[in-house]
Amino acid sequence: MHELYTAPLPEVLCELMRRFYALGWVSGTGGGISLKDPEGGYWLAPSGVHKELLSPDDLFRFEDDLESCTEPKNGGKLTECFPLFQTIFRARGAGAVIHSHSIWTALATRVCPGDFEIVDFEMQKGISGHGVFSPLRVPIIENTEREPELTGALGEALARDERTYAVLVRGHGVYIWGDDWKQAKRHAECYDYLFRAKVELARLGQA
Ligand SMILES: [Zn+2]
Repeated sequence: MHELYTAPLPEVLCELMRRFYALGWVSGTGGGISLKDPEGGYWLAPSGVHKELLSPDDLFRFEDDLESCTEPKNGGKLTECFPLFQTIFRARGAGAVIHSHSIWTALATRVCPGDFEIVDFEMQKGISGHGVFSPLRVPIIENTEREPELTGALGEALARDERTYAVLVRGHGVYIWGDDWKQAKRHAECYDYLFRAKVELARLGQA
């Protein structure tokens, strides 16, 4: 078994950031991850830092609200994604949330005037509760100047689509979650494939 499966969550978070940076999901200091630990606390990377260079001493830990926040040993500023992560944890009982700035997410929202929809791709099976031959949908919300301003629309999108494990933000990125970091990682990989597939289909004139 790979050592990541038994590593403490702060180390898992830092390692996932390094891997996601290599994929272009958290470059330019954008994007992020929050993980819930078995004691009910949440781990979070600080804002505006190079996500591939994080160490466990850079991470914030909080309980249910900002007042319970434990500052990292290395200082830093709490990410503006905090209320968005919280909205998803509360609405979905998620154990892990990933915010990706992958270029395929931004481009997929450009080729979908309404919500994202795709069908007949094997990778749809990687999203829990979904199969190949019925359409997979992802709500798209409109972008805002500041990340916390997305919170209301994100909550509405979660209420509107009870099957989704992702919400896209137009021209910006996506929030993806799972019961734990392993499921969230699988979802993020499958969704990114499907977002890219949609863009390539449009390029082929088949969208
Ligand atoms: Zn973002």
